[in-house]
This record gives sequence, structure tokens and C-alpha cells, in this order.
Amino acid sequence: MNEPGVYIHLPFCAKRCAYCDFFSSTRLEDIDAYTEALCRQIKESASKETVDTVYFGGGTPSLLGAGRIKKILGALKESFSLSEDCEITAEVNPTGQDEKTLSALKEAGVNRLSVGVQSLDDRELKLIGRLHDARMALKTIAAAKTAGIERISADLIYGLPSQTIRSFRASLDGLIETGVSHLSCYCLTLKEDSPLKKLDLPDEDEQRKMYLDCCERLEAAGIRQYEVSNFARPGQESRHNLKYWTGKRYFGFGAGAHGFDGKERYYIKPDIDAFISRPARELKITEETPGENDRLEEYIIFSLRLRSGIKYKKLASLGGEKTLEKTGVLLPELKRAGLAGEDEEGFWLTPEGMFVSNSVIARLI
Ligand code: SF4
Repeated sequence: MNEPGVYIHLPFCAKRCAYCDFFSSTRLEDIDAYTEALCRQIKESASKETVDTVYFGGGTPSLLGAGRIKKILGALKESFSLSEDCEITAEVNPTGQDEKTLSALKEAGVNRLSVGVQSLDDRELKLIGRLHDARMALKTIAAAKTAGIERISADLIYGLPSQTIRSFRASLDGLIETGVSHLSCYCLTLKEDSPLKKLDLPDEDEQRKMYLDCCERLEAAGIRQYEVSNFARPGQESRHNLKYWTGKRYFGFGAGAHGFDGKERYYIKPDIDAFISRPARELKITEETPGENDRLEEYIIFSLRLRSGIKYKKLASLGGEKTLEKTGVLLPELKRAGLAGEDEEGFWLTPEGMFVSNSVIARLI
């Protein structure tokens, strides 16, 4: 898995959700011009390199429809060589999806879906401003299966307004029953001035219970945790997202997209008008050039997100002597508290530890 991946940002949504902080626009009339600009950017970056993952993220990629997705994939095939088993994921919102639209997506080349379910409780969905209800979410998953798309991931959020441990559990169990192959479970994060802050939100202890419940119930159902927020049946892990957490290269196409060329991290200015009217290379902003110390920090941060954890040999090879010293002091405490496990090769965080991973990481770097 040394081939680079491709991330394509499609920043359009039918309506802005109340909690969302992603870059996206509701000016759907720009979609055609944006698609053209995107194909231009892809062709300008042509390298004939082999790419083994493509991820259409947003925004709401499904709003583009199969025709435009096919066009973008066509530009990619002209400019790169897509591996035979290339994982091609599209995020899909459960509004207006049926077997026909999803079959068309499959026909266009998409072989993995990430469905933005978020909850199977209609009241919770309404409070966060989603346009779909539980019935539509379940219908989308069923239609995807009928369309022959086997790799289906569902997004779920815990910590929603009015959510209880019981209602979260019902959403989780409902999704397990659908037989999805992958689940992403995120904690709701809100900005200080978000109007949702005024609603009845679960406290940290309830959030912790929901998270641990999620890890436990999914494990029992054979859907194993492999990252802080990601769970998969064996062999169904997101190959694309694993590139982010293991420091692999990926191209970023589209306004607001991030990329990493192996040396530099960059992003394309999140400005749709500029993206349509100017060459994308003029909008490319270099974020950072990771130095020795950054590489070490990245390794610690990303590895502790993963179930596989930190390997002592790798840490030493990155000059992590100080971290090894700190680990020697911190690890016995973490293990006593049930937050970490260890073997001769390294250590990892348990689900309890993953819930507080940010504070553990802060003590190590
Ligand atoms: S559909 Fe997704 S990207 Fe669009 S506003 Fe809602 S949460 Fe944000």
C-alpha cells in the first residue's frame, strides 16, 4: 500500500446542517463549472502514477449524481493509472437515494459507500437539521446492497441533543442489523457559539458510556475497532483513511481539499469562485514541511489513534528517546487505569484510553 490515494472535495450541500463546520456551499448552480475545474486540476497534475484509493468527500458528493462522478473518474483515469482493485468511495446522504441512483454510481466506478446516517432517531436528526429520517437512511443502505455495492460504511454521531444512552444504543443496534461492513462513530463537536449548545446535550460521562458501548457492541458483532472512531468487519477497513493515519501520500483535488506529497502537506484554498476561475496551482497553500520532530509527533499522534498502537523500534528510529522515557513513567499508570495495553513490541490504547487519547498524547509529546 505504497501507492498514493486521491481525495476529491465536493463542497456542495442541499442545506447546511446546524452542527457542521465543514467547508461547503448551497449554491448548487455552481456544480457544473466546479466539475469542469476539478477535471482541469486533475489533468494538470497528471503523472501516470498508480493510485489505489479514491475518496469523494464533502459536502454531499451524492448531489453531483453518477454522470459527473463518472466524468471526474474519467479525468483521473486519463491522468493516473488506477490500480485494478482501486477502492473508490463516495460519501452519500440518505436523501433521494434509491436502487437506480446507487446502481448508476456503481456503474460509474464507485465500489464503496459512506452513508451519513448519524442517528436512527428522527427527533435527534431533526434537531441537528438533517434532511433525512431513519427510514430513508435504512432504505439507502438496503438499496445500496440491492445495487450490488458490498462495501458500505455508516456514520453515526454520539453526544447529540436529546440523545440518551438508550436511544444511541437503538441507533447502533439498528445499524448492526443492516449488516454494514464498516462504521464510523464520532462525538458531536460544537463551536462555542453554536445554537445547539442551548439544547439538552449529554454530559461527558454519558458520552463516555455511549462510546464504550459502541466499542463493546460492535466488537461483539464482529465489527472490530481499528481506529479511535472507526470499526470494520475483517478486511473491510477504509484503505483510504488508513493512508492518513500511517503517513502515506495522497493527492488533494478540489477547493478545500488537503493533500500530502510525502514531504509537504498542502491544501487548496477553500474558495469555489476562485477554484472555478483560476488554475488550482495558484490556490495551493503549503501547510507545513514536517521536520524530524514533526515526523516523530505525527507518528505518536497517528499511531495512538490506531488499535495497533506505537512500536518501540519505530519510535527509537525516529529519535523518540524522550518519548520512550516519558512512556516508561506514564505507561504503568495508564495500564493500572485500564487505558493502555503493552507487549514486547510496543503499546496501544484500550477503548477507555482512546476516549481520552488527546490528553494521553499531550503527555507524550
Ligand atoms: S450534509 Fe454534511 S457537509 Fe453538508 S452541512 Fe450537513 S454535515 Fe455538513
